[in-house]
Amino acid sequence: MTEQKYTRQKVLQVREWVPGKLLSIKVSRPDNFKFKGGQYARLGLSEKIETDTEPSIWRAYSMVNGPDQTPLEFYSIVVPEGEFSPRLAALKPGDTIYIDNTVFGFLTADRFEPGGTLWMIATGTGLSAYLSMLNDPATWAAFDQIILIHGVRTKDELAYSEEIRQWQADSGTQALPAKFVYLAIPTREPMPGVPQERITTLIENGELEKLAHCPLDPDRNKIMLCGNPEMLADARAILKKKGFAVGRRGNPGNLAVENYW
Ligand SMILES: Cc1cc2nc3c(=O)[nH]c(=O)nc-3n(C[C@H](O)[C@H](O)[C@H](O)COP(=O)(O)OP(=O)(O)OC[C@H]3O[C@@H](n4cnc5c(N)ncnc54)[C@H](O)[C@@H]3O)c2cc1C
Repeated sequence: MTEQKYTRQKVLQVREWVPGKLLSIKVSRPDNFKFKGGQYARLGLSEKIETDTEPSIWRAYSMVNGPDQTPLEFYSIVVPEGEFSPRLAALKPGDTIYIDNTVFGFLTADRFEPGGTLWMIATGTGLSAYLSMLNDPATWAAFDQIILIHGVRTKDELAYSEEIRQWQADSGTQALPAKFVYLAIPTREPMPGVPQERITTLIENGELEKLAHCPLDPDRNKIMLCGNPEMLADARAILKKKGFAVGRRGNPGNLAVENYW
Protein backbone atom coordinates (compact mmCIF):
# COMPACT_ATOMS: atom_id res chain seq x y z
CA MET A 1 0.00 0.00 0.00
CA THR A 2 1.31 3.48 -0.82
CA GLU A 3 1.07 6.44 1.56
CA GLN A 4 -1.96 7.88 -0.28
CA LYS A 5 -4.12 4.81 0.35
CA TYR A 6 -4.26 5.24 4.12
CA THR A 7 -3.84 7.91 6.76
CA ARG A 8 -2.07 7.95 10.09
CA GLN A 9 -4.49 8.63 12.96
CA LYS A 10 -4.28 8.95 16.74
CA VAL A 11 -5.87 6.80 19.41
CA LEU A 12 -7.96 9.13 21.59
CA GLN A 13 -9.55 6.81 24.14
CA VAL A 14 -9.69 3.13 25.07
CA ARG A 15 -12.56 1.68 27.11
CA GLU A 16 -12.44 -1.87 28.45
CA TRP A 17 -15.84 -3.56 28.79
CA VAL A 18 -14.44 -6.92 29.90
CA PRO A 19 -10.69 -6.70 30.70
CA GLY A 20 -8.60 -8.65 28.20
CA LYS A 21 -11.70 -9.60 26.21
CA LEU A 22 -13.83 -6.70 24.95
CA LEU A 23 -12.92 -3.06 24.38
CA SER A 24 -13.91 0.05 22.48
CA ILE A 25 -11.43 2.43 20.96
CA LYS A 26 -11.92 6.01 19.80
CA VAL A 27 -9.70 7.21 16.98
CA SER A 28 -9.30 10.57 15.23
CA ARG A 29 -11.39 10.73 12.04
CA PRO A 30 -9.51 11.28 8.77
CA ASP A 31 -10.56 14.28 6.66
CA ASN A 32 -13.11 13.37 3.97
CA PHE A 33 -13.73 9.94 5.51
CA LYS A 34 -17.34 9.26 4.47
CA PHE A 35 -19.33 6.12 5.20
CA LYS A 36 -22.84 4.74 5.70
CA GLY A 37 -23.96 3.21 9.01
CA GLY A 38 -23.07 -0.50 8.90
CA GLN A 39 -19.97 -0.14 6.73
CA TYR A 40 -16.50 -1.06 7.90
CA ALA A 41 -13.01 0.40 7.84
CA ARG A 42 -9.69 -1.37 7.51
CA LEU A 43 -7.46 -0.58 10.48
CA GLY A 44 -3.70 -0.99 10.25
CA LEU A 45 -1.04 -1.41 12.92
CA SER A 46 2.74 -1.47 12.79
CA GLU A 47 4.69 -4.58 13.73
CA LYS A 48 6.10 -2.70 16.72
CA ILE A 49 3.90 0.04 18.15
CA GLU A 50 6.83 1.72 19.93
CA THR A 51 8.81 2.34 16.74
CA ASP A 52 5.81 3.75 14.84
CA THR A 53 6.88 2.09 11.58
CA GLU A 54 4.51 1.72 8.62
CA PRO A 55 1.53 -0.64 9.07
CA SER A 56 1.96 -4.32 8.30
CA ILE A 57 -1.24 -5.89 9.72
CA TRP A 58 -4.72 -4.90 8.61
CA ARG A 59 -8.16 -5.98 9.86
CA ALA A 60 -11.78 -5.07 9.10
CA TYR A 61 -13.74 -3.20 11.79
CA SER A 62 -17.29 -1.87 11.59
CA MET A 63 -17.72 1.73 12.65
CA VAL A 64 -19.75 2.17 15.86
CA ASN A 65 -20.26 5.93 15.50
CA GLY A 66 -22.85 7.33 13.10
CA PRO A 67 -21.85 8.71 9.67
CA ASP A 68 -21.99 12.30 10.97
CA GLN A 69 -20.29 11.66 14.31
CA THR A 70 -16.68 12.27 15.23
CA PRO A 71 -14.36 10.68 16.36
CA LEU A 72 -14.44 7.20 14.87
CA GLU A 73 -15.25 4.44 17.33
CA PHE A 74 -14.67 0.69 17.05
CA TYR A 75 -15.76 -2.18 19.29
CA SER A 76 -13.41 -5.16 19.41
CA ILE A 77 -13.02 -8.62 20.77
CA VAL A 78 -9.54 -9.68 21.91
CA VAL A 79 -8.66 -13.05 20.37
CA PRO A 80 -5.71 -14.16 22.58
CA GLU A 81 -3.95 -16.03 19.77
CA GLY A 82 -4.93 -13.45 17.12
CA GLU A 83 -2.34 -11.35 15.33
CA PHE A 84 -4.18 -8.03 15.39
CA SER A 85 -6.63 -7.74 18.28
CA PRO A 86 -4.11 -8.17 21.18
CA ARG A 87 -2.06 -5.34 19.62
CA LEU A 88 -5.18 -3.20 19.30
CA ALA A 89 -5.96 -3.87 22.96
CA ALA A 90 -2.45 -2.73 23.96
CA LEU A 91 -2.86 0.72 22.37
CA LYS A 92 -2.91 3.80 24.60
CA PRO A 93 -4.19 7.34 23.92
CA GLY A 94 -1.67 9.12 21.70
CA ASP A 95 -0.56 5.93 19.89
CA THR A 96 -0.72 5.70 16.11
CA ILE A 97 -3.26 3.66 14.16
CA TYR A 98 -3.68 3.62 10.38
CA ILE A 99 -6.98 3.80 8.50
CA ASP A 100 -7.47 2.78 4.88
CA ASN A 101 -9.06 5.62 2.89
CA THR A 102 -11.66 3.26 1.41
CA VAL A 103 -14.70 2.09 3.35
CA PHE A 104 -16.33 -1.24 2.56
CA GLY A 105 -19.52 -3.22 3.09
CA PHE A 106 -23.13 -3.59 2.00
CA LEU A 107 -24.83 -4.20 5.36
CA THR A 108 -26.55 -0.82 5.27
CA ALA A 109 -30.16 0.13 6.05
CA ASP A 110 -30.67 1.74 2.62
CA ARG A 111 -30.30 -1.62 0.86
CA PHE A 112 -33.90 -2.40 1.90
CA GLU A 113 -37.15 -0.75 0.88
CA PRO A 114 -38.12 1.65 3.69
CA GLY A 115 -41.10 0.87 5.97
CA GLY A 116 -42.10 -2.15 8.03
CA THR A 117 -39.86 -3.72 10.66
CA LEU A 118 -36.07 -3.95 10.51
CA TRP A 119 -34.58 -6.77 12.59
CA MET A 120 -30.93 -6.31 13.58
CA ILE A 121 -29.68 -9.69 14.80
CA ALA A 122 -26.11 -9.85 16.16
CA THR A 123 -23.85 -12.21 18.00
CA GLY A 124 -21.02 -10.69 20.06
CA THR A 125 -19.15 -7.84 18.38
CA GLY A 126 -21.52 -8.09 15.39
CA LEU A 127 -23.41 -5.45 17.37
CA SER A 128 -20.97 -2.78 16.09
CA ALA A 129 -22.51 -2.47 12.63
CA TYR A 130 -25.97 -1.89 14.12
CA LEU A 131 -24.73 0.72 16.59
CA SER A 132 -23.54 2.80 13.66
CA MET A 133 -26.94 2.48 11.95
CA LEU A 134 -28.72 3.38 15.20
CA ASN A 135 -26.41 6.37 15.57
CA ASP A 136 -27.78 7.59 12.22
CA PRO A 137 -31.16 9.44 12.42
CA ALA A 138 -31.96 8.27 8.85
CA THR A 139 -32.35 4.67 10.09
CA TRP A 140 -34.93 5.74 12.69
CA ALA A 141 -36.89 7.63 10.04
CA ALA A 142 -36.81 4.82 7.45
CA PHE A 143 -38.60 2.05 9.38
CA ASP A 144 -41.78 1.81 11.50
CA GLN A 145 -40.08 -0.51 13.96
CA ILE A 146 -36.52 -1.62 14.73
CA ILE A 147 -35.86 -4.81 16.69
CA LEU A 148 -32.31 -5.28 18.00
CA ILE A 149 -31.38 -8.80 19.14
CA HIS A 150 -27.96 -9.24 20.79
CA GLY A 151 -26.82 -12.78 21.50
CA VAL A 152 -23.86 -13.14 23.89
CA ARG A 153 -22.46 -15.82 26.17
CA THR A 154 -22.52 -13.95 29.49
CA LYS A 155 -24.20 -10.77 30.74
CA ASP A 156 -20.91 -8.87 31.12
CA GLU A 157 -20.57 -9.09 27.31
CA LEU A 158 -23.63 -6.85 26.86
CA ALA A 159 -21.60 -3.80 25.85
CA TYR A 160 -23.37 -0.53 25.04
CA SER A 161 -26.53 -1.73 26.82
CA GLU A 162 -26.94 1.62 28.62
CA GLU A 163 -26.83 3.56 25.36
CA ILE A 164 -29.24 1.07 23.79
CA ARG A 165 -31.69 1.33 26.70
CA GLN A 166 -31.61 5.11 26.32
CA TRP A 167 -32.63 4.71 22.66
CA GLN A 168 -35.41 2.45 23.87
CA ALA A 169 -36.62 5.15 26.27
CA ASP A 170 -36.45 7.83 23.54
CA SER A 171 -37.94 5.77 20.70
CA GLY A 172 -41.28 6.68 19.18
CA THR A 173 -40.53 10.41 19.55
CA GLN A 174 -39.93 13.00 16.84
CA ALA A 175 -36.16 12.56 17.19
CA LEU A 176 -36.26 8.73 16.98
CA PRO A 177 -39.58 8.01 15.24
CA ALA A 178 -39.37 4.22 14.93
CA LYS A 179 -40.67 1.93 17.66
CA PHE A 180 -37.70 0.10 19.21
CA VAL A 181 -37.40 -3.33 20.81
CA TYR A 182 -34.13 -4.52 22.43
CA LEU A 183 -33.62 -8.13 23.42
CA ALA A 184 -30.31 -9.11 25.04
CA ILE A 185 -29.96 -12.88 25.14
CA PRO A 186 -27.07 -14.51 27.07
CA THR A 187 -26.71 -18.26 26.44
CA ARG A 188 -24.55 -19.20 29.43
CA GLU A 189 -26.37 -17.51 32.28
CA PRO A 190 -30.00 -16.69 33.01
CA MET A 191 -31.44 -13.27 32.26
CA PRO A 192 -34.93 -12.29 33.45
CA GLY A 193 -37.56 -12.25 30.71
CA VAL A 194 -35.60 -14.14 28.04
CA PRO A 195 -34.96 -17.86 27.56
CA GLN A 196 -31.36 -19.06 27.87
CA GLU A 197 -31.20 -20.26 24.26
CA ARG A 198 -29.27 -19.69 21.05
CA ILE A 199 -30.82 -17.15 18.69
CA THR A 200 -31.13 -19.77 15.95
CA THR A 201 -33.21 -22.00 18.26
CA LEU A 202 -35.46 -19.06 19.11
CA ILE A 203 -35.97 -18.21 15.43
CA GLU A 204 -36.73 -21.82 14.54
CA ASN A 205 -39.22 -22.47 17.35
CA GLY A 206 -41.02 -19.14 16.88
CA GLU A 207 -40.06 -17.90 20.36
CA LEU A 208 -38.18 -14.82 19.09
CA GLU A 209 -41.28 -13.50 17.30
CA LYS A 210 -43.26 -13.88 20.54
CA LEU A 211 -40.58 -12.15 22.63
CA ALA A 212 -40.46 -9.23 20.19
CA HIS A 213 -44.26 -9.21 19.72
CA CYS A 214 -43.73 -9.21 15.96
CA PRO A 215 -44.65 -12.10 13.63
CA LEU A 216 -41.95 -12.81 11.02
CA ASP A 217 -44.10 -11.95 8.00
CA PRO A 218 -41.64 -11.79 5.05
CA ASP A 219 -43.65 -9.00 3.38
CA ARG A 220 -43.41 -6.63 6.36
CA ASN A 221 -40.04 -7.57 7.88
CA LYS A 222 -36.42 -7.12 6.82
CA ILE A 223 -33.71 -9.01 8.64
CA MET A 224 -29.99 -8.31 9.07
CA LEU A 225 -27.61 -10.92 10.50
CA CYS A 226 -24.11 -10.01 11.67
CA GLY A 227 -21.34 -11.78 13.58
CA ASN A 228 -20.42 -15.45 13.98
CA PRO A 229 -20.47 -17.18 10.54
CA GLU A 230 -21.73 -20.47 11.95
CA MET A 231 -24.75 -18.81 13.58
CA LEU A 232 -25.35 -16.80 10.42
CA ALA A 233 -25.35 -19.88 8.17
CA ASP A 234 -27.80 -21.69 10.49
CA ALA A 235 -30.06 -18.64 10.83
CA ARG A 236 -30.01 -18.06 7.09
CA ALA A 237 -31.15 -21.64 6.39
CA ILE A 238 -33.98 -21.37 8.95
CA LEU A 239 -35.07 -17.97 7.63
CA LYS A 240 -35.09 -19.23 4.05
CA LYS A 241 -37.87 -21.64 5.04
CA LYS A 242 -39.78 -18.68 6.50
CA GLY A 243 -39.59 -16.72 3.22
CA PHE A 244 -36.46 -14.58 3.74
CA ALA A 245 -33.82 -14.26 1.03
CA VAL A 246 -30.87 -12.02 0.20
CA GLY A 247 -31.66 -9.61 -2.65
CA ARG A 248 -30.13 -9.97 -6.08
CA ARG A 249 -30.26 -8.31 -9.51
CA GLY A 250 -32.00 -5.12 -8.46
CA ASN A 251 -34.41 -6.88 -6.06
CA PRO A 252 -33.64 -5.53 -2.55
CA GLY A 253 -34.71 -8.79 -0.84
CA ASN A 254 -35.58 -9.03 2.85
CA LEU A 255 -32.36 -10.52 4.28
CA ALA A 256 -28.78 -9.20 4.57
CA VAL A 257 -25.82 -11.00 6.11
CA GLU A 258 -22.29 -10.01 7.21
CA ASN A 259 -19.77 -12.56 8.47
CA TYR A 260 -17.03 -11.29 10.82
CA TRP A 261 -14.61 -14.12 10.06
C1 LIG B 1 -16.58 -7.15 7.54
C2 LIG B 1 -15.91 -7.40 8.88
C3 LIG B 1 -16.16 -6.53 9.94
C4 LIG B 1 -15.58 -6.79 11.19
N1 LIG B 1 -15.87 -5.96 12.23
C5 LIG B 1 -15.40 -6.26 13.46
C6 LIG B 1 -15.75 -5.46 14.60
O1 LIG B 1 -16.45 -4.44 14.49
N2 LIG B 1 -15.28 -5.85 15.81
C7 LIG B 1 -14.49 -6.96 15.97
O2 LIG B 1 -14.11 -7.28 17.10
N3 LIG B 1 -14.14 -7.71 14.92
C8 LIG B 1 -14.56 -7.38 13.67
N4 LIG B 1 -14.18 -8.15 12.61
C9 LIG B 1 -13.16 -9.19 12.83
C10 LIG B 1 -11.77 -8.51 12.82
O3 LIG B 1 -11.46 -8.12 11.49
C11 LIG B 1 -10.65 -9.44 13.34
O4 LIG B 1 -10.73 -10.68 12.71
C12 LIG B 1 -10.72 -9.67 14.82
O5 LIG B 1 -10.62 -8.45 15.52
C13 LIG B 1 -9.60 -10.59 15.33
O6 LIG B 1 -8.36 -10.23 14.73
P1 LIG B 1 -7.06 -11.08 15.05
O7 LIG B 1 -5.98 -10.79 14.07
O8 LIG B 1 -6.69 -10.90 16.50
O9 LIG B 1 -7.51 -12.59 14.85
P2 LIG B 1 -7.83 -13.27 13.44
O10 LIG B 1 -6.64 -14.06 13.02
O11 LIG B 1 -8.38 -12.27 12.49
O12 LIG B 1 -8.99 -14.26 13.86
C14 LIG B 1 -8.70 -15.46 14.59
C15 LIG B 1 -9.97 -16.14 14.98
O13 LIG B 1 -10.64 -15.38 15.98
C16 LIG B 1 -12.03 -15.54 15.86
N5 LIG B 1 -12.63 -14.18 15.68
C17 LIG B 1 -12.25 -13.21 14.80
N6 LIG B 1 -13.01 -12.10 14.94
C18 LIG B 1 -13.88 -12.38 15.93
C19 LIG B 1 -14.93 -11.63 16.54
N7 LIG B 1 -15.21 -10.37 16.16
N8 LIG B 1 -15.64 -12.22 17.52
C20 LIG B 1 -15.37 -13.50 17.92
N9 LIG B 1 -14.38 -14.25 17.38
C21 LIG B 1 -13.65 -13.70 16.40
C22 LIG B 1 -12.28 -16.45 14.67
O14 LIG B 1 -12.41 -17.77 15.13
C23 LIG B 1 -11.03 -16.30 13.87
O15 LIG B 1 -10.77 -17.41 13.08
C24 LIG B 1 -14.73 -7.90 11.35
C25 LIG B 1 -14.45 -8.73 10.27
C26 LIG B 1 -15.04 -8.51 9.05
C27 LIG B 1 -14.74 -9.44 7.90
